[in-house]
Amino acid sequence: MALVVQKYGGTSVGDIERIRNVAERVAKTYDAGNDLVVVVSAMSGETNRLVALANQVSEFPDSREYDVLVATGEQVTVALLAMCLKSMGYKARSYLGSQVPIVTDSSFGKARIKRISDKKIHADLKAGTIIVVAGFQGVDQDANLTTLGRGGSDTSAVALAAALKADLCEIFTDVDGVYTTDPNICNDARKIEKISYDEMLELASLGAKVLQIRSVQFAKKYNVTVHVRSSFNDTAGTLVTKEDKNMESILVSGITYAKDETKIAVMRVPDKPGIAARLLSPLADANISVDMIVQNVSEDGHTDFTFTVTKSDFKKALLITKEAAREIDAKDVLTDESIAKVSIVGLGMRNHAGVATRMFETLAKEGINIQMISTSEIKISVILDAKYSELAVRVLHDAFGLAGKDVRPE
Ligand code: ADP
Ligand code: ASP
Ligand code: MG
Repeated sequence: MALVVQKYGGTSVGDIERIRNVAERVAKTYDAGNDLVVVVSAMSGETNRLVALANQVSEFPDSREYDVLVATGEQVTVALLAMCLKSMGYKARSYLGSQVPIVTDSSFGKARIKRISDKKIHADLKAGTIIVVAGFQGVDQDANLTTLGRGGSDTSAVALAAALKADLCEIFTDVDGVYTTDPNICNDARKIEKISYDEMLELASLGAKVLQIRSVQFAKKYNVTVHVRSSFNDTAGTLVTKEDKNMESILVSGITYAKDETKIAVMRVPDKPGIAARLLSPLADANISVDMIVQNVSEDGHTDFTFTVTKSDFKKALLITKEAAREIDAKDVLTDESIAKVSIVGLGMRNHAGVATRMFETLAKEGINIQMISTSEIKISVILDAKYSELAVRVLHDAFGLAGKDVRPE
């Protein structure tokens, strides 16, 4: 008998028929003799609908109330799934994040889990009850409702698996696993059988929304092997797990794209020590993360300073940057909201030169201009015009031979 945590995403609980399908899968796992904790997302499209409502009420919705609103989607699905299981004759109980409780810090909209109490859940499991937990939500120490950031139900599931010391953590979604690139934009995308935590961390942080990045951080920290698979069939999916020797022989394992970034450029900044900090620290104080940063070579004592932030932080970031730019006597603040980030990721890059060249040449051949570049040990990212992102993904997928078998370095 094993303790299994299963998570079902929005599409998998998108309507009543699909919730019934989930209930049947859950029942099958339970009937096989397992203890079961099920985490669910809101019905697909529901969280977007709630976010749109908040944006209609206010340009900068209050962050505490925003969480109270967007967390409601998951309250609906836990109740429906638990009801469905009960009507099938199973003992089931829904839990909101605050009822577990899943305790987080107070960064509304992107709260971090601090601890999870396992007492009530273990008692219920012992009594043979199937536990259904609302993903994406928690509670802070002052009893405020919090949410974990978009896609956060993955993190709820992996964190629960770690806290409960589960034997298995399955993430059920609308694709068969983690692919070499988004299978919905590239027909040739290939399913990856096994991927290391570090590669998955890069893929997730660079736009492969199949797993939320925090869930992978949890999995790595607590050594939880995560099985990503489809809720619509029984085929084996992708194991996200510890690195093994064979993994490094693959040069590039995945290509990602992200369209949720925007570019802010501060022009003619006086080039003095401390300028970067004066521009960026007010953003950090407002809990806004800056992704890529480029500072140009200085000319007659002035430089241009460009960085990217996510679309959801853009308006606030622009206000703050304009204020900071005025204080340091910069000339102008320019923006571009139609950019995309395309990245290649692979453990094999550590030991092989020439990967960047191949990437840049491939994009040049298509006439795609690169606006910014950033690299780490196992990834290269470029910023380009959003209208080229899908083309860029496809040509890179081809150039690194990902459609066929795993690429071995020459
Ligand atoms: P869920 O609602 O189940 O959490 P998501 O929509 O958050 O599902 O994540 C699944 C989606 O992630 C897929 O439908 C796919 O379009 C997208 N995706 C992006 N990159 C990848 C990738 N490399 N492998 C698999 N899916 C990917
Ligand atoms: N419902 C939330 C979202 O759409 C959380 C999730 O689906 O994981 O972001
Ligand atoms: Mg998701």
